[in-house]
Amino acid sequence: MFDALQDRLGGILDRLTRRGALTEGDVAEAMREVRRALLEADVALEVARSFVDKVKERAVGVEVVKSVTPGQMVVKIVHDELVAMLGSDAQGISLAAAAPVPILMVGLQGSGKTTSTAKIAKRLTTREKRKVLMASLDTRRPAAMEQLATLGKQTEVATLPIVAGQTAVQIAKRAMEAGRLGGYDVVLLDTAGRTTLDDALMAEVVEVKKAVNPHEVLLVADALTGQDAVTTARAFDAALGITGLVLTRLDGDGRGGAALSMRAVTGKPIKLVGVGERFDQVDEFDPRRVANRILG
Ligand code: GDP
Repeated sequence: MFDALQDRLGGILDRLTRRGALTEGDVAEAMREVRRALLEADVALEVARSFVDKVKERAVGVEVVKSVTPGQMVVKIVHDELVAMLGSDAQGISLAAAAPVPILMVGLQGSGKTTSTAKIAKRLTTREKRKVLMASLDTRRPAAMEQLATLGKQTEVATLPIVAGQTAVQIAKRAMEAGRLGGYDVVLLDTAGRTTLDDALMAEVVEVKKAVNPHEVLLVADALTGQDAVTTARAFDAALGITGLVLTRLDGDGRGGAALSMRAVTGKPIKLVGVGERFDQVDEFDPRRVANRILG
């Protein structure tokens, strides 16, 4: 991910730093190229536009044009603004609520939601020594429930016993009750996904949210789907008020636009990223590290 963007931005900024003096025109021209590079990397239009405007606003100031190393100053501004666009500081999952802390996992089918649920459960149990219970609310796809049960065995994390015929809300309430009785710290609720956004899916998840009042609503989105991931994020955030994002398949060779746009479009932090299929292949999203990688 980000390789093509890294090449493009590297080239543009290199040319800028090799020049001695910079005029406002030089900066404006470079920013047009940066904007084009971002759009080609699938960054949402409004995000690319606002990014370039912010960099330009700071870069055409006297400090840069009069500086002895103007190109390097522009590079620093681009770096700072990239970090700001990505959300500044790494933010993990919050567990600052009364136990059992309900966490709702939402997203489209195939986004990596169930895998991410298991990855988070494993991370919380091994790293933070929390007692975690997972429950699948996908009443229409028994295979999804079985999948979570299998992942639970593989990760050695408890899953709520499957009871046929219950609604998603009933299962969610049963999971919270089991969480209370069993002394669990966290209850991860893996909601049903659909292949496309639809009202019935959203209505069901909204009902579940009302029933359990989750501390975190994490949207799992596939970074390889580019602009579609951004559209999905907007829709889920509008309906549910998500608290953060889990971006999967950052190990793939997508252009990276979704990863770069998500925070700016939703205003919600990317909390974790999936970087492979294994349970341990999940990292905190660190805006500085990503910006460093993109700018080389
Ligand atoms: P769900 O339908 O949203 O629950 O999706 P699943 O969790 O079943 O994941 C679909 C596929 O994506 C599975 O084969 C996962 O192993 C794979 N997957 C999930 N996250 C990642 C990731 O971060 N990187 C890679 N390479 N594959 C992933």
